[in-house]
Amino acid sequence: MNYFPMFADLRSRPVLVVGGGTVAERKIQSLLDAGAEVLLAARELTENLQTWAEEGRICRIAESFSDGLIRQAVLVIAATDDEELNRRVADAAERGNKLVNVVDRQELCSFIVPAVIDRSPVQIAVSSGGTSPVLARRLRLQIEQLVPQHIGLMAQIAGENRESVKRQFGSLPERRQFWEQLFAGRFQDYCTQNNRPQADLQLKAELAAKQTQQGFVTLVGAGPGDAGLLTIHALQAIQAADVVLYDALVGTDILCLIRKDAEKINVGKRAGGHKVRQEETNALLLEYAQKGCRVVRLKGGDPFVFGRGGEELQILAEAGIPFKIIPGITAAVGAAAYAGIPLTHRDYAQSVQFITGQCKADGSDVDWASFARSNQTLAVYMGTIKAENIAARLIRHGRAADTPCAVISNGTRQNQTVATGVLSDLQCLTANAATPALIIIGEVAALHHRLAWFQSENTAVAKAKAA
Ligand code: SAH
Repeated sequence: MNYFPMFADLRSRPVLVVGGGTVAERKIQSLLDAGAEVLLAARELTENLQTWAEEGRICRIAESFSDGLIRQAVLVIAATDDEELNRRVADAAERGNKLVNVVDRQELCSFIVPAVIDRSPVQIAVSSGGTSPVLARRLRLQIEQLVPQHIGLMAQIAGENRESVKRQFGSLPERRQFWEQLFAGRFQDYCTQNNRPQADLQLKAELAAKQTQQGFVTLVGAGPGDAGLLTIHALQAIQAADVVLYDALVGTDILCLIRKDAEKINVGKRAGGHKVRQEETNALLLEYAQKGCRVVRLKGGDPFVFGRGGEELQILAEAGIPFKIIPGITAAVGAAAYAGIPLTHRDYAQSVQFITGQCKADGSDVDWASFARSNQTLAVYMGTIKAENIAARLIRHGRAADTPCAVISNGTRQNQTVATGVLSDLQCLTANAATPALIIIGEVAALHHRLAWFQSENTAVAKAKAA
Protein backbone atom coordinates (compact mmCIF):
# COMPACT_ATOMS: atom_id res chain seq x y z
CA MET A 1 0.00 0.00 0.00
CA ASN A 2 1.74 3.16 -1.23
CA TYR A 3 -0.73 5.61 0.25
CA PHE A 4 -2.66 5.64 3.49
CA PRO A 5 -6.32 6.25 2.66
CA MET A 6 -8.18 8.64 4.95
CA PHE A 7 -10.99 11.19 5.04
CA ALA A 8 -9.89 14.46 6.64
CA ASP A 9 -12.17 16.81 8.56
CA LEU A 10 -11.10 20.21 7.19
CA ARG A 11 -13.97 22.23 8.62
CA SER A 12 -12.52 25.59 9.76
CA ARG A 13 -8.98 24.32 9.30
CA PRO A 14 -6.62 26.53 7.28
CA VAL A 15 -5.40 25.24 3.93
CA LEU A 16 -2.88 27.23 1.91
CA VAL A 17 -3.41 27.32 -1.85
CA VAL A 18 -0.70 28.82 -4.03
CA GLY A 19 -1.96 29.89 -7.46
CA GLY A 20 -5.05 31.74 -8.69
CA GLY A 21 -5.88 30.15 -12.06
CA THR A 22 -8.67 27.76 -13.08
CA VAL A 23 -6.97 24.68 -11.62
CA ALA A 24 -6.57 26.43 -8.28
CA GLU A 25 -10.21 27.53 -8.49
CA ARG A 26 -11.35 23.91 -8.93
CA LYS A 27 -9.33 22.79 -5.92
CA ILE A 28 -10.60 25.70 -3.84
CA GLN A 29 -14.19 24.88 -4.75
CA SER A 30 -13.82 21.37 -3.27
CA LEU A 31 -12.02 22.73 -0.22
CA LEU A 32 -14.90 25.16 0.35
CA ASP A 33 -17.41 22.31 -0.10
CA ALA A 34 -15.58 20.53 2.71
CA GLY A 35 -15.77 23.65 4.88
CA ALA A 36 -12.05 24.45 4.89
CA GLU A 37 -10.65 27.91 5.58
CA VAL A 38 -8.84 28.74 2.35
CA LEU A 39 -5.73 30.94 2.50
CA LEU A 40 -4.70 32.07 -0.95
CA ALA A 41 -1.32 33.24 -2.21
CA ALA A 42 -1.61 34.39 -5.82
CA ARG A 43 -0.72 37.29 -8.00
CA GLU A 44 -3.65 37.02 -10.42
CA LEU A 45 -7.08 35.63 -9.65
CA THR A 46 -9.85 34.21 -11.84
CA GLU A 47 -13.09 36.13 -11.79
CA ASN A 48 -14.71 33.68 -9.38
CA LEU A 49 -11.75 33.72 -7.02
CA GLN A 50 -11.86 37.48 -7.03
CA THR A 51 -15.55 37.44 -6.09
CA TRP A 52 -15.00 34.83 -3.38
CA ALA A 53 -12.18 36.92 -1.92
CA GLU A 54 -14.37 40.05 -1.95
CA GLU A 55 -17.20 38.13 -0.29
CA GLY A 56 -14.82 36.87 2.37
CA ARG A 57 -15.31 33.20 1.47
CA ILE A 58 -11.55 32.88 0.97
CA CYS A 59 -8.69 34.92 2.41
CA ARG A 60 -6.00 36.21 0.08
CA ILE A 61 -3.06 36.43 2.43
CA ALA A 62 -0.33 37.28 -0.05
CA GLU A 63 0.36 38.05 -3.70
CA SER A 64 3.50 35.99 -3.83
CA PHE A 65 4.54 32.90 -1.98
CA SER A 66 7.06 32.96 0.84
CA ASP A 67 8.14 30.07 3.04
CA GLY A 68 6.67 31.63 6.16
CA LEU A 69 3.10 31.22 4.83
CA ILE A 70 3.38 27.47 5.26
CA ARG A 71 3.32 27.73 9.03
CA GLN A 72 -0.30 28.87 9.13
CA ALA A 73 -1.73 25.88 7.25
CA VAL A 74 -2.51 22.24 8.00
CA LEU A 75 -2.31 21.34 4.29
CA VAL A 76 -0.69 22.99 1.30
CA ILE A 77 -1.71 22.88 -2.35
CA ALA A 78 0.46 24.25 -5.14
CA ALA A 79 -1.52 24.90 -8.31
CA THR A 80 0.52 27.36 -10.37
CA ASP A 81 1.85 26.92 -13.90
CA ASP A 82 5.32 27.92 -12.69
CA GLU A 83 7.31 24.68 -12.24
CA GLU A 84 10.00 26.40 -10.23
CA LEU A 85 7.52 27.98 -7.84
CA ASN A 86 5.62 24.70 -7.42
CA ARG A 87 8.86 23.01 -6.44
CA ARG A 88 9.69 25.78 -3.93
CA VAL A 89 6.27 25.35 -2.31
CA ALA A 90 6.77 21.57 -2.12
CA ASP A 91 10.24 21.95 -0.56
CA ALA A 92 9.04 24.48 1.98
CA ALA A 93 6.11 22.24 2.95
CA GLU A 94 8.45 19.27 3.37
CA ARG A 95 10.75 21.28 5.61
CA GLY A 96 7.81 22.55 7.60
CA ASN A 97 6.33 19.02 8.01
CA LYS A 98 3.12 19.87 6.18
CA LEU A 99 1.38 17.59 3.74
CA VAL A 100 1.55 19.03 0.25
CA ASN A 101 -0.13 18.40 -3.08
CA VAL A 102 1.37 19.76 -6.28
CA VAL A 103 -1.16 19.55 -9.05
CA ASP A 104 -0.16 17.02 -11.73
CA ARG A 105 3.29 16.42 -10.20
CA GLN A 106 2.89 13.22 -8.25
CA GLU A 107 6.59 12.99 -7.35
CA LEU A 108 6.35 16.29 -5.46
CA CYS A 109 3.21 15.30 -3.54
CA SER A 110 3.01 13.92 -0.04
CA PHE A 111 -0.75 13.53 -0.42
CA ILE A 112 -2.89 12.93 -3.49
CA VAL A 113 -6.59 13.49 -4.04
CA PRO A 114 -8.83 10.59 -5.06
CA ALA A 115 -11.67 10.52 -7.57
CA VAL A 116 -14.84 10.68 -5.49
CA ILE A 117 -18.32 9.25 -5.77
CA ASP A 118 -20.29 11.64 -3.60
CA ARG A 119 -23.51 10.45 -1.99
CA SER A 120 -22.96 12.53 1.14
CA PRO A 121 -22.67 11.50 3.86
CA VAL A 122 -21.47 8.42 1.95
CA GLN A 123 -18.31 9.05 -0.03
CA ILE A 124 -16.40 6.51 -2.07
CA ALA A 125 -12.85 7.43 -2.95
CA VAL A 126 -10.95 5.80 -5.80
CA SER A 127 -7.25 6.10 -6.39
CA SER A 128 -4.78 4.49 -8.74
CA GLY A 129 -2.00 5.58 -6.39
CA GLY A 130 -1.05 8.30 -8.85
CA THR A 131 -0.26 5.82 -11.63
CA SER A 132 -3.24 6.69 -13.80
CA PRO A 133 -5.80 9.32 -12.84
CA VAL A 134 -7.70 8.50 -16.06
CA LEU A 135 -8.11 4.89 -14.95
CA ALA A 136 -9.28 6.02 -11.51
CA ARG A 137 -11.85 8.32 -13.13
CA ARG A 138 -13.10 5.48 -15.36
CA LEU A 139 -13.51 3.26 -12.34
CA ARG A 140 -15.30 6.08 -10.60
CA LEU A 141 -17.79 6.28 -13.47
CA GLN A 142 -18.43 2.55 -13.28
CA ILE A 143 -19.00 2.69 -9.52
CA GLU A 144 -21.09 5.83 -9.97
CA GLN A 145 -23.53 3.75 -12.06
CA LEU A 146 -23.65 0.99 -9.46
CA VAL A 147 -24.25 3.09 -6.37
CA PRO A 148 -27.80 4.39 -6.20
CA GLN A 149 -28.40 8.13 -5.68
CA HIS A 150 -30.59 7.60 -2.63
CA ILE A 151 -27.82 5.88 -0.65
CA GLY A 152 -26.97 9.28 0.88
CA LEU A 153 -30.44 9.64 2.38
CA MET A 154 -30.29 6.06 3.67
CA ALA A 155 -26.98 6.76 5.39
CA GLN A 156 -28.25 10.00 6.85
CA ILE A 157 -31.31 8.36 8.42
CA ALA A 158 -29.21 5.40 9.58
CA GLY A 159 -26.76 7.79 11.24
CA GLU A 160 -29.53 9.56 13.12
CA ASN A 161 -30.97 6.27 14.39
CA ARG A 162 -27.76 4.44 15.15
CA GLU A 163 -27.99 4.86 18.89
CA SER A 164 -31.62 3.76 19.23
CA VAL A 165 -30.92 0.66 17.16
CA LYS A 166 -27.93 -0.07 19.38
CA ARG A 167 -30.13 0.18 22.44
CA GLN A 168 -32.69 -2.19 20.99
CA PHE A 169 -30.36 -4.86 19.65
CA GLY A 170 -27.65 -5.91 22.06
CA SER A 171 -25.43 -7.93 19.75
CA LEU A 172 -23.60 -6.95 16.59
CA PRO A 173 -25.08 -9.78 14.43
CA GLU A 174 -28.60 -8.76 15.47
CA ARG A 175 -27.91 -5.16 14.58
CA ARG A 176 -26.37 -6.10 11.27
CA GLN A 177 -29.37 -8.18 10.39
CA PHE A 178 -31.73 -5.36 11.31
CA TRP A 179 -29.91 -2.87 9.08
CA GLU A 180 -29.56 -5.31 6.20
CA GLN A 181 -33.25 -6.11 6.23
CA LEU A 182 -34.21 -2.47 6.55
CA PHE A 183 -32.01 -1.46 3.63
CA ALA A 184 -33.42 -4.21 1.42
CA GLY A 185 -37.10 -3.61 2.12
CA ARG A 186 -39.69 -0.83 1.88
CA PHE A 187 -37.35 1.61 3.60
CA GLN A 188 -35.16 1.52 0.51
CA ASP A 189 -38.14 2.12 -1.77
CA TYR A 190 -39.14 5.20 0.21
CA CYS A 191 -35.57 6.51 0.09
CA THR A 192 -35.49 5.94 -3.68
CA GLN A 193 -38.60 8.10 -3.92
CA ASN A 194 -36.90 10.66 -1.65
CA ASN A 195 -39.86 10.23 0.70
CA ARG A 196 -38.15 10.98 3.98
CA PRO A 197 -41.26 11.02 6.23
CA GLN A 198 -42.34 7.54 5.10
CA ALA A 199 -38.77 6.23 5.35
CA ASP A 200 -38.61 7.48 8.97
CA LEU A 201 -41.95 5.85 9.77
CA GLN A 202 -40.86 2.58 8.21
CA LEU A 203 -37.69 2.50 10.29
CA LYS A 204 -39.62 3.24 13.46
CA ALA A 205 -42.22 0.58 12.65
CA GLU A 206 -39.59 -2.08 12.03
CA LEU A 207 -37.74 -1.11 15.15
CA ALA A 208 -40.93 -1.21 17.22
CA ALA A 209 -41.98 -4.56 15.82
CA LYS A 210 -38.77 -6.00 17.23
CA GLN A 211 -39.82 -9.02 15.25
CA THR A 212 -37.69 -12.11 15.07
CA GLN A 213 -35.98 -11.67 11.77
CA GLN A 214 -37.50 -13.52 8.86
CA GLY A 215 -35.27 -15.12 6.28
CA PHE A 216 -35.41 -14.31 2.60
CA VAL A 217 -34.32 -16.23 -0.46
CA THR A 218 -33.19 -14.65 -3.72
CA LEU A 219 -32.98 -16.95 -6.68
CA VAL A 220 -30.24 -15.46 -8.82
CA GLY A 221 -29.24 -16.24 -12.40
CA ALA A 222 -25.45 -16.08 -12.66
CA GLY A 223 -25.34 -16.15 -16.46
CA PRO A 224 -23.24 -18.54 -18.53
CA GLY A 225 -19.80 -17.75 -17.10
CA ASP A 226 -18.36 -14.34 -17.94
CA ALA A 227 -18.78 -12.37 -14.69
CA GLY A 228 -19.45 -9.23 -16.75
CA LEU A 229 -22.76 -10.74 -17.79
CA LEU A 230 -24.18 -10.62 -14.26
CA THR A 231 -26.97 -8.08 -13.85
CA ILE A 232 -26.55 -5.22 -11.38
CA HIS A 233 -29.36 -6.72 -9.29
CA ALA A 234 -27.51 -10.05 -9.23
CA LEU A 235 -24.30 -8.40 -8.06
CA GLN A 236 -26.10 -6.49 -5.32
CA ALA A 237 -27.88 -9.66 -4.12
CA ILE A 238 -24.66 -11.68 -4.07
CA GLN A 239 -22.92 -9.02 -2.05
CA ALA A 240 -25.73 -8.72 0.49
CA ALA A 241 -26.13 -12.46 1.12
CA ASP A 242 -25.34 -14.21 4.42
CA VAL A 243 -25.36 -17.59 2.69
CA VAL A 244 -24.89 -18.51 -0.97
CA LEU A 245 -25.86 -21.94 -2.27
CA TYR A 246 -24.30 -22.34 -5.70
CA ASP A 247 -24.22 -24.82 -8.53
CA ALA A 248 -21.30 -26.49 -10.26
CA LEU A 249 -21.91 -24.28 -13.30
CA VAL A 250 -21.04 -21.10 -11.40
CA GLY A 251 -17.39 -20.22 -11.98
CA THR A 252 -14.76 -18.80 -9.62
CA ASP A 253 -14.86 -15.35 -11.25
CA ILE A 254 -18.39 -15.00 -9.96
CA LEU A 255 -17.85 -16.78 -6.63
CA CYS A 256 -15.13 -14.30 -5.69
CA LEU A 257 -17.75 -11.50 -5.78
CA ILE A 258 -19.48 -13.03 -2.75
CA ARG A 259 -18.88 -11.19 0.53
CA LYS A 260 -15.87 -12.67 2.30
CA ASP A 261 -17.73 -13.39 5.53
CA ALA A 262 -20.72 -15.04 3.81
CA GLU A 263 -21.09 -18.81 3.97
CA LYS A 264 -20.58 -20.46 0.57
CA ILE A 265 -22.13 -23.85 -0.03
CA ASN A 266 -21.46 -25.85 -3.17
CA VAL A 267 -24.59 -27.84 -3.90
CA GLY A 268 -23.35 -28.78 -7.36
CA LYS A 269 -20.76 -31.32 -6.30
CA ARG A 270 -19.71 -32.80 -3.00
CA ALA A 271 -16.07 -33.48 -2.13
CA GLY A 272 -16.47 -37.05 -3.39
CA GLY A 273 -17.77 -35.75 -6.71
CA HIS A 274 -21.40 -36.82 -6.20
CA LYS A 275 -24.15 -34.33 -6.80
CA VAL A 276 -26.07 -33.07 -3.81
CA ARG A 277 -29.60 -34.41 -4.23
CA GLN A 278 -32.27 -31.86 -5.06
CA GLU A 279 -34.11 -32.69 -1.81
CA GLU A 280 -30.98 -31.86 0.18
CA THR A 281 -30.65 -28.52 -1.58
CA ASN A 282 -34.30 -27.77 -0.87
CA ALA A 283 -33.80 -28.71 2.78
CA LEU A 284 -30.73 -26.45 3.07
CA LEU A 285 -32.61 -23.52 1.53
CA LEU A 286 -35.41 -23.96 4.04
CA GLU A 287 -33.08 -24.41 6.98
CA TYR A 288 -31.10 -21.22 6.37
CA ALA A 289 -34.14 -19.13 5.51
CA GLN A 290 -35.93 -20.33 8.66
CA LYS A 291 -32.89 -19.32 10.70
CA GLY A 292 -33.48 -15.77 9.45
CA CYS A 293 -30.61 -15.64 6.95
CA ARG A 294 -30.56 -13.78 3.71
CA VAL A 295 -30.01 -16.64 1.31
CA VAL A 296 -28.94 -16.43 -2.32
CA ARG A 297 -29.54 -19.46 -4.47
CA LEU A 298 -27.10 -18.91 -7.31
CA LYS A 299 -27.68 -20.83 -10.51
CA GLY A 300 -25.88 -20.95 -13.84
CA GLY A 301 -27.59 -19.13 -16.71
CA ASP A 302 -31.20 -18.29 -15.95
CA PRO A 303 -32.86 -20.05 -13.00
CA PHE A 304 -36.08 -20.69 -14.94
CA VAL A 305 -34.46 -22.21 -18.01
CA PHE A 306 -33.72 -25.89 -17.34
CA GLY A 307 -32.71 -24.79 -13.87
CA ARG A 308 -35.28 -26.41 -11.57
CA GLY A 309 -35.72 -22.94 -10.09
CA GLY A 310 -39.48 -23.41 -10.12
CA GLU A 311 -39.29 -26.53 -7.97
CA GLU A 312 -37.16 -24.85 -5.33
CA LEU A 313 -39.49 -21.88 -5.13
CA GLN A 314 -42.55 -24.10 -4.72
CA ILE A 315 -41.01 -25.52 -1.56
CA LEU A 316 -40.33 -22.02 -0.22
CA ALA A 317 -43.82 -20.82 -1.10
CA GLU A 318 -45.33 -23.78 0.76
CA ALA A 319 -43.23 -22.94 3.83
CA GLY A 320 -44.27 -19.27 3.65
CA ILE A 321 -40.74 -17.99 3.07
CA PRO A 322 -40.54 -14.78 1.04
CA PHE A 323 -38.43 -14.86 -2.11
CA LYS A 324 -37.60 -13.01 -5.27
CA ILE A 325 -36.07 -13.93 -8.60
CA ILE A 326 -33.31 -12.22 -10.53
CA PRO A 327 -33.11 -13.51 -14.09
CA GLY A 328 -29.82 -14.29 -15.75
CA ILE A 329 -28.54 -14.62 -19.28
CA THR A 330 -29.28 -18.18 -20.31
CA ALA A 331 -26.55 -20.32 -21.90
CA ALA A 332 -28.11 -20.29 -25.37
CA VAL A 333 -28.26 -16.51 -25.49
CA GLY A 334 -24.81 -15.97 -23.99
CA ALA A 335 -22.93 -18.72 -25.81
CA ALA A 336 -24.52 -17.92 -29.19
CA ALA A 337 -23.59 -14.25 -28.83
CA TYR A 338 -19.99 -15.04 -27.90
CA ALA A 339 -19.75 -17.52 -30.78
CA GLY A 340 -21.10 -15.01 -33.31
CA ILE A 341 -24.21 -17.09 -34.04
CA PRO A 342 -27.43 -15.07 -34.27
CA LEU A 343 -30.20 -17.34 -32.96
CA THR A 344 -32.69 -15.86 -35.40
CA HIS A 345 -31.96 -14.30 -38.77
CA ARG A 346 -34.40 -12.95 -41.34
CA ASP A 347 -32.94 -15.16 -44.09
CA TYR A 348 -32.52 -18.43 -42.17
CA ALA A 349 -34.47 -18.76 -38.94
CA GLN A 350 -37.77 -17.17 -37.95
CA SER A 351 -37.87 -18.85 -34.56
CA VAL A 352 -35.66 -20.53 -31.99
CA GLN A 353 -36.46 -23.37 -29.63
CA PHE A 354 -34.60 -24.02 -26.38
CA ILE A 355 -34.76 -27.78 -25.86
CA THR A 356 -33.19 -30.30 -23.51
CA GLY A 357 -31.26 -33.32 -24.73
CA GLN A 358 -32.37 -35.22 -21.63
CA CYS A 359 -35.38 -36.87 -23.17
CA LYS A 360 -36.58 -40.45 -22.75
CA ALA A 361 -34.53 -43.12 -24.53
CA ASP A 362 -37.31 -43.91 -27.00
CA GLY A 363 -37.87 -40.20 -27.63
CA SER A 364 -41.59 -40.61 -27.02
CA ASP A 365 -41.83 -37.46 -24.87
CA VAL A 366 -40.72 -35.15 -27.66
CA ASP A 367 -42.50 -33.74 -30.68
CA TRP A 368 -39.68 -34.50 -33.15
CA ALA A 369 -41.69 -33.36 -36.15
CA SER A 370 -41.90 -29.85 -34.67
CA PHE A 371 -38.17 -29.83 -33.84
CA ALA A 372 -37.29 -30.99 -37.35
CA ARG A 373 -39.10 -28.16 -39.12
CA SER A 374 -36.86 -25.96 -41.24
CA ASN A 375 -36.36 -22.20 -40.85
CA GLN A 376 -35.79 -22.47 -37.14
CA THR A 377 -32.85 -22.77 -34.79
CA LEU A 378 -32.61 -25.40 -32.06
CA ALA A 379 -30.52 -24.66 -29.00
CA VAL A 380 -29.97 -27.96 -27.24
CA TYR A 381 -29.05 -27.91 -23.54
CA MET A 382 -27.54 -31.03 -21.94
CA GLY A 383 -27.38 -32.57 -25.38
CA THR A 384 -23.85 -33.93 -25.85
CA ILE A 385 -24.45 -37.44 -24.50
CA LYS A 386 -27.50 -38.05 -26.66
CA ALA A 387 -26.22 -36.13 -29.68
CA GLU A 388 -26.23 -39.13 -32.02
CA ASN A 389 -29.78 -39.99 -31.10
CA ILE A 390 -30.98 -36.39 -31.47
CA ALA A 391 -29.38 -35.99 -34.91
CA ALA A 392 -30.81 -39.30 -36.17
CA ARG A 393 -34.35 -38.46 -35.06
CA LEU A 394 -34.24 -34.95 -36.53
CA ILE A 395 -33.04 -36.31 -39.89
CA ARG A 396 -35.67 -39.06 -39.82
CA HIS A 397 -38.35 -36.40 -39.27
CA GLY A 398 -37.17 -34.35 -42.23
CA ARG A 399 -34.40 -31.98 -41.19
CA ALA A 400 -31.66 -31.95 -43.86
CA ALA A 401 -28.58 -34.02 -42.99
CA ASP A 402 -26.34 -31.13 -44.08
CA THR A 403 -27.97 -28.59 -41.72
CA PRO A 404 -25.14 -26.58 -40.14
CA CYS A 405 -24.43 -27.23 -36.43
CA ALA A 406 -22.18 -25.76 -33.78
CA VAL A 407 -21.09 -27.13 -30.43
CA ILE A 408 -20.07 -24.37 -28.03
CA SER A 409 -18.15 -25.52 -24.97
CA ASN A 410 -17.62 -23.23 -21.99
CA GLY A 411 -19.52 -20.47 -23.75
CA THR A 412 -18.57 -16.87 -22.77
CA ARG A 413 -15.65 -18.11 -20.65
CA GLN A 414 -11.98 -17.60 -21.32
CA ASN A 415 -11.69 -21.25 -22.42
CA GLN A 416 -14.63 -21.14 -24.85
CA THR A 417 -14.34 -23.41 -27.91
CA VAL A 418 -16.63 -23.68 -30.90
CA ALA A 419 -16.75 -26.72 -33.20
CA THR A 420 -18.83 -26.51 -36.37
CA GLY A 421 -20.06 -29.11 -38.87
CA VAL A 422 -23.32 -30.58 -40.16
CA LEU A 423 -26.17 -32.48 -38.53
CA SER A 424 -25.10 -35.92 -39.78
CA ASP A 425 -21.70 -35.38 -38.04
CA LEU A 426 -23.13 -34.15 -34.76
CA GLN A 427 -21.89 -37.12 -32.81
CA CYS A 428 -18.27 -36.53 -33.90
CA LEU A 429 -18.57 -32.84 -33.06
CA THR A 430 -19.74 -33.58 -29.53
CA ALA A 431 -17.54 -36.63 -28.85
CA ASN A 432 -14.57 -34.62 -27.60
CA ALA A 433 -16.37 -31.47 -26.59
CA ALA A 434 -15.60 -30.14 -23.12
CA THR A 435 -18.62 -29.49 -20.89
CA PRO A 436 -20.75 -27.56 -20.30
CA ALA A 437 -21.59 -27.56 -23.98
CA LEU A 438 -24.51 -26.24 -25.95
CA ILE A 439 -25.52 -27.53 -29.37
CA ILE A 440 -26.91 -25.16 -31.96
CA ILE A 441 -28.65 -26.69 -34.96
CA GLY A 442 -29.74 -24.56 -37.90
CA GLU A 443 -28.41 -22.54 -40.84
CA VAL A 444 -27.37 -19.70 -38.52
CA ALA A 445 -24.60 -21.93 -37.11
CA ALA A 446 -22.65 -21.42 -40.33
CA LEU A 447 -22.46 -17.66 -39.63
CA HIS A 448 -19.95 -18.39 -36.87
CA HIS A 449 -17.15 -18.35 -39.44
CA ARG A 450 -17.96 -14.80 -40.44
CA LEU A 451 -19.15 -13.33 -37.14
CA ALA A 452 -16.87 -14.90 -34.54
CA TRP A 453 -15.41 -12.05 -32.49
CA PHE A 454 -14.65 -13.36 -29.02
CA GLN A 455 -10.99 -13.99 -28.44
CA SER A 456 -10.86 -16.79 -25.89
CA GLU A 457 -7.55 -18.26 -24.75
CA ASN A 458 -8.23 -21.11 -27.16
CA THR A 459 -8.67 -18.85 -30.18
CA ALA A 460 -5.36 -17.24 -29.34
CA VAL A 461 -3.61 -20.63 -29.09
CA ALA A 462 -5.21 -21.86 -32.35
CA LYS A 463 -4.10 -18.69 -34.13
CA ALA A 464 -0.56 -19.01 -32.80
CA LYS A 465 -0.42 -22.63 -34.02
CA ALA A 466 -1.70 -21.69 -37.46
CA ALA A 467 0.87 -18.90 -37.79
N1 SAH B 1 -30.14 -22.68 -16.25
C1 SAH B 1 -29.06 -22.85 -17.18
C2 SAH B 1 -29.06 -24.19 -17.86
C3 SAH B 1 -28.79 -25.33 -16.94
S1 SAH B 1 -28.81 -26.87 -17.77
C4 SAH B 1 -29.12 -21.72 -18.22
O1 SAH B 1 -30.11 -21.00 -18.29
O2 SAH B 1 -28.17 -21.58 -18.97
C5 SAH B 1 -27.10 -27.12 -18.03
C6 SAH B 1 -26.77 -27.02 -19.50
O3 SAH B 1 -26.67 -25.67 -19.89
C7 SAH B 1 -25.43 -27.62 -19.87
O4 SAH B 1 -25.53 -29.01 -20.04
C8 SAH B 1 -25.14 -26.91 -21.17
O5 SAH B 1 -25.86 -27.49 -22.23
C9 SAH B 1 -25.73 -25.53 -20.92
N2 SAH B 1 -24.71 -24.59 -20.47
C10 SAH B 1 -24.65 -23.95 -19.30
N3 SAH B 1 -23.60 -23.10 -19.25
C11 SAH B 1 -22.98 -23.20 -20.45
C12 SAH B 1 -21.86 -22.57 -21.05
N4 SAH B 1 -21.14 -21.66 -20.38
N5 SAH B 1 -21.51 -22.92 -22.31
C13 SAH B 1 -22.23 -23.83 -23.00
N6 SAH B 1 -23.31 -24.44 -22.49
C14 SAH B 1 -23.68 -24.16 -21.23
